[in-house]
Amino acid sequence: MKQFDLVVIGSGPAGEKAAVKAAYFGNSVALIEKESQFGGAGTQTGTIPSKTLKESALHFSGVYEKGIYGLDFNFSRKATVDDFMFRKNLVSQAVGIEIEDNLKRHKVEVFSGEAQFTSPHTIKISSESTDEQIIEAKYILIATGSYPFHPSHIPFDGNRIHDSNTILSIDKFPSSMMIIGAGVIACEYATIYAAMGVKVFLINNRSTVLSFADSEISEALKAEMERSGVTFHDDSDITSLEVPVDDNMPLIITLTEGQKIEVDMFLFAAGRNGNTNSLHLDKAGLAVEKRELIKVNEHFQTTVPHIYAVGDVIGFPALASTSMDQGRMAVAHMFEAGDLDTVSNIFPFGIYTIPEISMVGMTEKEAKDANIDYCVGRSYYKNISRARIQMDNNIGFMKLIFDKKTMVVIGIHILGQLATEIIHYGLTLVKDKRTVNDIISTVFNYPTLHDLYKYAAYDGLGNQVGYTIK
Ligand SMILES: Cc1cc2nc3c(=O)[nH]c(=O)nc-3n(C[C@H](O)[C@H](O)[C@H](O)COP(=O)(O)OP(=O)(O)OC[C@H]3O[C@@H](n4cnc5c(N)ncnc54)[C@H](O)[C@@H]3O)c2cc1C
Repeated sequence: MKQFDLVVIGSGPAGEKAAVKAAYFGNSVALIEKESQFGGAGTQTGTIPSKTLKESALHFSGVYEKGIYGLDFNFSRKATVDDFMFRKNLVSQAVGIEIEDNLKRHKVEVFSGEAQFTSPHTIKISSESTDEQIIEAKYILIATGSYPFHPSHIPFDGNRIHDSNTILSIDKFPSSMMIIGAGVIACEYATIYAAMGVKVFLINNRSTVLSFADSEISEALKAEMERSGVTFHDDSDITSLEVPVDDNMPLIITLTEGQKIEVDMFLFAAGRNGNTNSLHLDKAGLAVEKRELIKVNEHFQTTVPHIYAVGDVIGFPALASTSMDQGRMAVAHMFEAGDLDTVSNIFPFGIYTIPEISMVGMTEKEAKDANIDYCVGRSYYKNISRARIQMDNNIGFMKLIFDKKTMVVIGIHILGQLATEIIHYGLTLVKDKRTVNDIISTVFNYPTLHDLYKYAAYDGLGNQVGYTIK
């Protein structure tokens, strides 16, 4: 039986980074992946493909180019579904190959097949193409990710009724689509398909989208989505979904309020569960929690101390960004690398809707609930020279929240193009407890979108002392 210092299960962002780091420090490492392509949801079914589809939608729709030469100019380009999917396939494949190369370069031994515990230190690997084998490890890292939740009343068929995996392999453009959910995945796909000219209906069992975001930002996104043609049905759900035998006939969906809506395609994008079902965790002495997730301590150890778990399989925040660092951190702990004690609990959220949202730190409600005497400053893309030069980019704003007495920045929230890029200065402000005066006394390149910070800071100062700076 082959023996390793570490066996990693899963090649997503969490597993890849963990395996490579452990090998870099001279440990013998194996990684088991059940799919033929590397990268998991991070590269093959989630982050990278959806972000690439967004860029394709922007390209084909010409959304941001429309105003450059005046409104009469039509920059939209005709696209077939193959055109639309082309770049997504190319990028996912290329990144998957990079991951495989990275593992090989670090001499991580890769096993293809499904991993299953046979004891707390041994794992069986089963695949259709090779004989079953069992390997042994001193440490084991579970990085198996998550899968889209399938409620029993939705007849998923991967043809017209999709989850967030199968929506990536449609072979025909719908003219209309119903999306269930109002979280990140639902809103991202709603804006992508709306930009491609698809009539989108978004069914939400609440009245707000992105419930964790600052309400001013999420309301502004909702307004933008409505402007781009998304029809919202709030406080609603579906009661039935009729699928005609003839694919050319529309799906007929009845909502709780009784209304019937006909659409070509249906996407359920509300909730994911941990990928633990096939692992036989009981053989390792482990059990799962709600939504098939694994419980870990602050070092990412499970209740069996030599078995660690990271990434989506442990739940919140379930991001590629945090998953990678959790993987690295688990390895630092098991091999006492001493280079990483903790994954920062201050990290940005990036939502790649059209327009984008990004945020770090407290929302206004959180500041209020924490009894912080806070102040808000706002700035608008329409007043920023770079936004005017570069694109018809009048949409969006930045909201800066700071402690009124100490002037320390406690939250930054951005709606608008490149929000997920420009948030990182805000991240350092919040993480390092910097003040509004730090923003004002820092020189930025001009013209850049970072002017949003300056304008928001001055606006905040004005609001703090009770007058408005022009
Ligand atoms: C549509 C969508 C958009 C997203 N957008 C973003 C974004 O913009 N930014 C962001 O930070 N995050 C985003 N995410 C979340 C991000 O993709 C995940 O948080 C991240 O991929 C989790 O990484 P992971 O390594 O834990 O799991 P995964 O990436 O899911 O990888 C798990 C791997 O384990 C393998 N595996 C599972 N079980 C076994 C087994 N028994 N044996 C062998 N192999 C197994 C799987 O095949 C898979 O390759 C998005 C997710 C989705 C679905």
